Amino acid sequence: MDCVFCKIVDGDIPSDTIYEDDQIIAFKDLDPQAPIHFLVIPKKHITSLATLEDSDSALIAHIMKSIKRLAEEKGLESYRVVTNIGEDGGQSVPHLHFHVLGGRSFNWPPG
Ligand code: 5GP
Ligand code: ZN
Repeated sequence: MDCVFCKIVDGDIPSDTIYEDDQIIAFKDLDPQAPIHFLVIPKKHITSLATLEDSDSALIAHIMKSIKRLAEEKGLESYRVVTNIGEDGGQSVPHLHFHVLGGRSFNWPPG
């Protein structure tokens, strides 16, 4: 499949991996928008939150708990988790991913 994040999962594109298990991988964003900016993705190709299925519930719970743990390990007490969905949502890579951003203050609403 011609998907950049599937290629990262397969090891065909190198990434700065911070965590990996049988279901997920977390790696530093190539173009960081904060002092800490990493992505957490399922190894399974899911296009976005909009294409989640009921059978993905345990996987999503695992991603959320992993985000909590990784943020703790990085010493983050205050941070932002973002998933963009579709073109107007700002999604540029059509493989579900959660941005974890920290180390600075963030504005609301987003641009
Ligand atoms: P989106 O815009 O889809 O919400 O986020 C995609 C993110 O993936 C962007 O922040 C972009 O910098 C990051 N990204 C795109 N290609 C690569 C890559 O090959 N390696 C890494 N580490 N990050 C990537
Ligand atoms: Zn993919």
